Amino acid sequence: MNSAPPSCRALAVLLAAGVVAALPVQAQPQPTAPRARPLTFEEYNPDSMLKVPGQEITRAKFPFIDAHNHQRRHSPTSLAEVVREMDAMNMAIMVNLSGGTGQSLRDQVLLNERVAPGRFVTFANLNYDGIDDPQWGARAAAQLERDVKEGGARGLKIAKNVGMTLRDKAGKRIPTNDPRFDPVWARAGELGIPVLIHTGEPPAFFLPVDAKNERWLELTLHPSRGRFGDDVPEFTALMAEQHAIFRRHPKTTFISAHLGWYGHDLAFLGKLLDEIPNMMTELGAVIYEPGRQPRFAREFFTKYQDRILIGKDSWVPSEYKTYFRVLESNDEYFPYHKKYHAFWAMYGLGLPDAVLKKVYYENALRVIPGLDRTRFPR
Ligand SMILES: [Zn+2]
Repeated sequence: MNSAPPSCRALAVLLAAGVVAALPVQAQPQPTAPRARPLTFEEYNPDSMLKVPGQEITRAKFPFIDAHNHQRRHSPTSLAEVVREMDAMNMAIMVNLSGGTGQSLRDQVLLNERVAPGRFVTFANLNYDGIDDPQWGARAAAQLERDVKEGGARGLKIAKNVGMTLRDKAGKRIPTNDPRFDPVWARAGELGIPVLIHTGEPPAFFLPVDAKNERWLELTLHPSRGRFGDDVPEFTALMAEQHAIFRRHPKTTFISAHLGWYGHDLAFLGKLLDEIPNMMTELGAVIYEPGRQPRFAREFFTKYQDRILIGKDSWVPSEYKTYFRVLESNDEYFPYHKKYHAFWAMYGLGLPDAVLKKVYYENALRVIPGLDRTRFPR
């Protein structure tokens, strides 16, 4: 609040809300409006009165590769519908991280190629059955190789169960840097495919769910998201387990999902990228982080323009416009699409075309094998 004297109307509102308890004793007009009903945080969702130039961007300026998407099993008809939605927003290629393994992976890849050749890339997933068996790592690496060579996978996706809920027979948590995964990370490097890995949760999920917690709304709506096993370490230690495998396997390209959950601390994320040359990152479900720090984020995107991919995560076509507007525009104070991620407004970074092209497609063309370059401008 600034120090200018509040207007009568504003004062009346503050009085009604009980915010201003004692005022200088002087004739105050009695509020005539009915006393405002107290609102919950979820209900309070004011329309901005701000008028500034700017507009929604529903189609990306350049064709782009969504490096973080999840698709269910499709019929030819439902897949064609996805392609129409991709075309409308200028998404040239979608990376479906939910490929599974074995025959089911192969079936998906075949359907994609039949319905929309070159438009989809599929990442394999691991099967953790028998993870207590000392031979599991070698077996999983061999299966990954088959999934790439016979199934058509072009990457491996590791979900957040690793390091959080994945447990051995004795119920012991299996950390991301457990040596039994090493044959898999090494094989991915040998095969020339990236590993996109999601570890942990946003840092606020590890803090008390109280009035100070930035993600209070999400943790209140989805209480299970903030509940971890007693043996799950705190945020930085959990994330360090991820960074440890990046350092241990320098010949494998790792894409740390969701800005590695360090979008709130881009200086630290930059330090990691400096130290770990085989680490990339992507924007899935976290555009609200750069969108609240446009000047520092623009510096970050400029410095690390070779290390960032665009990704979205959940397939909600109407939400991509927030990504385009944050990355492309210089617009001020525009809404984010999901209040429980971010109750704050967004600002555009106004990235130059050269940086935008890297984030939109050039970096993905470099780290994901076999993509059709002719779909993209030079
Ligand atoms: Zn995801």
